[in-house]
Amino acid sequence: MFKKKAVLFDLDDTLYDYDPAHKAALKQVYKILKEEIKISYNKFLRLYNISKSEIHRELAGTASSHNRVLYFQRLIEKTHQTIASDTILKLYNAYWDAFLKKMKLRIGVLKTFKTLKDNCIKIGIVTDLTANIQLRKLSKLGLNHYINTLVTSEETGSEKPNPIMFLLALNKLNILPKDAVFVGDNPIKDIEGGNSIGLDTILISNKKTKQVFDYDYQKPDHYIQEIPEILDIIKK
Ligand SMILES: [Mg+2]
Repeated sequence: MFKKKAVLFDLDDTLYDYDPAHKAALKQVYKILKEEIKISYNKFLRLYNISKSEIHRELAGTASSHNRVLYFQRLIEKTHQTIASDTILKLYNAYWDAFLKKMKLRIGVLKTFKTLKDNCIKIGIVTDLTANIQLRKLSKLGLNHYINTLVTSEETGSEKPNPIMFLLALNKLNILPKDAVFVGDNPIKDIEGGNSIGLDTILISNKKTKQVFDYDYQKPDHYIQEIPEILDIIKK
């Protein structure tokens, strides 16, 4: 019934919408921070973004560049001029607790995963971030039972589009590139990365990708709006 043996997915902004969860998380962090110091929301956001940019610059291309504990440490160093370790950890935990609480699967994800599993098609997740957080997200989304392998950039030491991310997932599943498709929302990380090792690539639409459809990126093999459309693409 299906011509592929595995479907690999990006996680963030492919299986759930990142922005609503991130915004809710930052609000919760601010609530806690302003119990300790007098700071406006805008100033907090500005300091958060500066801290994040600094960490990105310093750790570009690594999983740690996304580690919120480093962002909050940098932020607190700016606001408190001391290592208020209790506060840093409180903000970090509050961020992820609020984020995970707000996260919601995109439509049809669970049903599609179920269909893939019922048809013995392997499912892999290939994602840039630390394993701990991505595992927590997958638990919260209720997907663990369906996923055969997870590859994080923490695990490979490189981020997408580095081919190692895709190759390790295929290797763990014992699947050849021609027998798998890759589904993601980012034209460079997901599509150029997947194309580079000969995977069929599927670009899923979200608010961000809509803006870059016209740019001169490598083309995906398919475009979809929502996850269930992949079933038609991989049908015989
Ligand atoms: Mg993504």
